[in-house]
Order: sequence, then C-alpha cells, then structure tokens
Amino acid sequence: MPLVCTVDVEDWAQSTLDTDLPISDRAGPNMEHVLDVLAEEKVKATCFVLGRFAEKFPDTVRRIASEGHEVASHGFGHVDVFRLTPTQFREDIRRSRGQLEALTGRPVLGYRAPDFSIVKESIWALEILAEEGFVYDASINPAVMARFGVPGFPRQPVRMALAGGAPLVELPVATLSFFGRSLPVAGGGYHRLLPFPVIRWAIEKSVLAGETFMAYCHPYEFDPDEFRHLDCPLPLKTRLHQGLGRRGFENKFRRMLREFETTLALQVAEKAMTEAPVYEG
Ligand SMILES: [Zn+2]
Repeated sequence: MPLVCTVDVEDWAQSTLDTDLPISDRAGPNMEHVLDVLAEEKVKATCFVLGRFAEKFPDTVRRIASEGHEVASHGFGHVDVFRLTPTQFREDIRRSRGQLEALTGRPVLGYRAPDFSIVKESIWALEILAEEGFVYDASINPAVMARFGVPGFPRQPVRMALAGGAPLVELPVATLSFFGRSLPVAGGGYHRLLPFPVIRWAIEKSVLAGETFMAYCHPYEFDPDEFRHLDCPLPLKTRLHQGLGRRGFENKFRRMLREFETTLALQVAEKAMTEAPVYEG
C-alpha cells in the first residue's frame, strides 16, 4: 500500500499557542503555497481543514477541492477532543462538516482530531463520528513517544467494532515498528528534524511490508520566516523547537512525493471498509 499525504490545514499560533487567537494572515498564503507544491509534484493530498481556517480563507478551501484534493474535517476550533463533552464534540464536527460541504459542494467523509487528541479517555468520540456518518477517522497515534496517543493501538487501518453498530474505519498515523515498539515518524516535527534518508527508510520499510504510511504536515512548516513576523512574544525555547527545520522541510516533502506513490485517505478507508481486520478495542 502506498503513502497517504495528509495536510492539517490550520494556523500555527491559533492551533499551537492559544485557540482563542485569530487565524493569522499567513495561514492562507501558506496553504496556497502547499497547493502550488502539490500541483508541481502532481500529487493529490487529503486536507483536514480547520473550520476557523475555512471561515477566514473560503477561496483557499474551494481551491483545495477544485484541484482534486480530498477535503476532510479537522473540527472547527482546534480544541482537543478530551476537553470537550460529547455534546460539544458533536456540535463541533457538525458545524465543521456543514461549512466545508457548503463551500465545496462535496460530502466530507473523514475526520482528524486536533493534536491527535482521540486518546483512551476520549475514545467515545469514534462512536459519535460513526453516528454522524463519517466513513473514517484519522486521529489515533499509536506511537509510544507521542504527546497524545494510544500506545498499543493497531498500527494499520482497522474496522472499529463500535457499540452502536455503525461502521467506521480508523486510519492510524504512521509509526515505525522497532523492536516491538511503535515510534513516531509520520511528519510534522519529525520530518522537520530527521534527515531525508531516515524518512525515506521508514516509509520504504512500511511500504515494502505492504503497509499504508499515513504522513502529515501543516502549511506553516513551509514558512521558515513566520517567527520573524509573529506579533506575540514567544519563549526562545518554543521559537527554537517549533521553528527548527522549517527551512529544509519543503525540499524533504518534495523528495518524499517524488519517491513514493500516493493515494487519498478516503481510498484507503473505502478499501479497509471491506478488507481491514475488525478491532474490538
Ligand atoms: Zn491541528
């Protein structure tokens, strides 16, 4: 199975520092740049679009859809799922999906939680996604070192056996299986910091084993100059940690797309709907 290129379409400061901040002016142009890169590399991606981003940059969301990428939901406000009640979560995904479907005229069938925040205590969210008619969720990180994650969760797509009986496929973010442990390797900071040969080796290992490799990135990772233009004061540690590796990111991203065949998350999910093992949890 090939590589799945996913983009979480959001703004760095609003998603990372404080969800009450406005979406910055850089977020839209950064995503437009990602779309230019994808067009140049002739790759279709799955874009998990944040509702607050779509509110500010509706034309960019229309462009994502019109250029043949998959538009999926990243929720509305980027609040971690385990901070929401089930009722608030249902409202958040309905609002986000309604907005994206109105903008693109196409059904939204996939969801990814902010910060991969579907964890053990918020696993109830999967039931709600299935009830709301989502085909797949891509929010679980099975890596042991992840900030949020479900260590021990299957590393590959599974059909969830949910109490309500509605179907839902889980597409976990890629991990590297290493001496029985699942290590994080799928994107974001890992792809900013790891040298390309290591990234290539991890993807190759996965693809050769017949696995799906769910990679992810964010538009701001393509923007090495963001921290010189931020309005808010930022501790040096954050500046270094979050900014490191941005300058080399685009080059590694392009090489990854050139070296591996890609597909959309929805295509993997549709196949998994009939072929993936059932996971009882
Ligand atoms: Zn996010």
